[in-house]
Amino acid sequence: MTSVTVLGSTGSIGTNTLDVIRQNSRRFRVFALAAGRNTELLARQIIEFRPSVAVVSAPELLPILAETLASLQLPSPEWPELRAGPRGLVEISTAPESDVVVSAIVGVGGLEATYEAARAGKKIGLANKESLVSAGRLVMDAVRAHSAELLPIDSEHNGAHQCFRAGARAEVTKLVLTASGGPFRNTPRSAFSEITPAQALQHPTWKMGNRITIDSATLMNKGFEVIEACWLFDLAPSEIEVVVHPQSSVHAMVEYNDGSVIAQVSATDMRMPIQYALTWPDRLQAPVPKIDWTQARQWTFEPPDTERFPLLRLAYEAQEAGGSATCVLNAADEVAVAAFLDAKIDFPSIASVVSDTLANFPHRHPTSISDILSVDAESREFARQFVAKRESSSNQKHSLKA
Ligand code: NDP
Repeated sequence: MTSVTVLGSTGSIGTNTLDVIRQNSRRFRVFALAAGRNTELLARQIIEFRPSVAVVSAPELLPILAETLASLQLPSPEWPELRAGPRGLVEISTAPESDVVVSAIVGVGGLEATYEAARAGKKIGLANKESLVSAGRLVMDAVRAHSAELLPIDSEHNGAHQCFRAGARAEVTKLVLTASGGPFRNTPRSAFSEITPAQALQHPTWKMGNRITIDSATLMNKGFEVIEACWLFDLAPSEIEVVVHPQSSVHAMVEYNDGSVIAQVSATDMRMPIQYALTWPDRLQAPVPKIDWTQARQWTFEPPDTERFPLLRLAYEAQEAGGSATCVLNAADEVAVAAFLDAKIDFPSIASVVSDTLANFPHRHPTSISDILSVDAESREFARQFVAKRESSSNQKHSLKA
């Protein structure tokens, strides 16, 4: 029996992970669950999966969780140990009872626990892309030094992991990551300022959390994936190409030196890559739709438009720059996305805020997780100032029009 810790159990990846565990209950048990603020869903997960430990993001949520467990009639001797905050996340990620850690918290809040899981030599199913985007070098150094295993859950990297099994690393010439292109693939640049948060939250092929959905609409998400892939597969940015493939059936392709290209194809269902990461190197039956080859279908591929979607280009540049640049990229984007969702800035301003923050934040070379967290916090302050500037100039424009 493999014991699993799920960080971010109440989110999109977390609930899909629990479904994979539910379908494979003879092979996996839950050791610990961690959620942010959704105590209602966490309580129901506790009742179903009976973890030994449960963690919420802040101490003030513990009495609410306890009250919910009591109201759901779970007798207190059957409750898991209840913990709170970042310390609790690190404890469950490094506990000897935990064989696999699924890292699926959104944002840089997932970094420390992922890093410590690597230092504890765990097998990690990695969804939290911010860990590698913000602190790729530190996380990969910890993985190598402590013989941890990092298995990507992101469908493109999971696909790439499968394609890399077809040949030797020295024979690889290129990794190709596919992008759906998002909901604005065919929208002219002139219409971008009219895009509403509700429109941007409609992803054409995947159902995901809010931040990653907006990042998919701006192609920032694909830029993050380029950075992640550099670290996961030890590639230079120039060895990674992005192609727009609106059907999202081919997730990744690896080109070998003889010109042969190996592609990974599967349904758009995250339970497949999650299960692959949990059961690797084995493959098991998965409850996901198979591709029906009796139906005619068309798959198209086109180059991305980095004029309309400059964040993809900025991600390449940040990875080339190294040091703190990708951490700043992630932090500024998180601030800009939140401001867009709060209707403080318009859609094109997401890219402007990120670009202005990157251009103005002094370049640094972080050597520890606390350095990374300082860069993250300070660059957010820069980004907030650029949001405020854009907000006030757009208010001025509106009052002039009125
Ligand atoms: P969601 O927004 O759906 O879920 C985020 C999870 O993180 C929730 O369980 C949330 O808890 C939890 N959380 C947030 N802050 C904290 C905290 N401080 N402590 C503990 N838990 C916290 O996001 P997704 O599942 O979509 O994405 C998770 C990660 O996986 C992201 O990094 C994303 O980029 C990546 N990813 C997601 C994919 C997808 O298909 N969704 C695909 C590839 C990568 P609560 O809701 O209780 O507040």
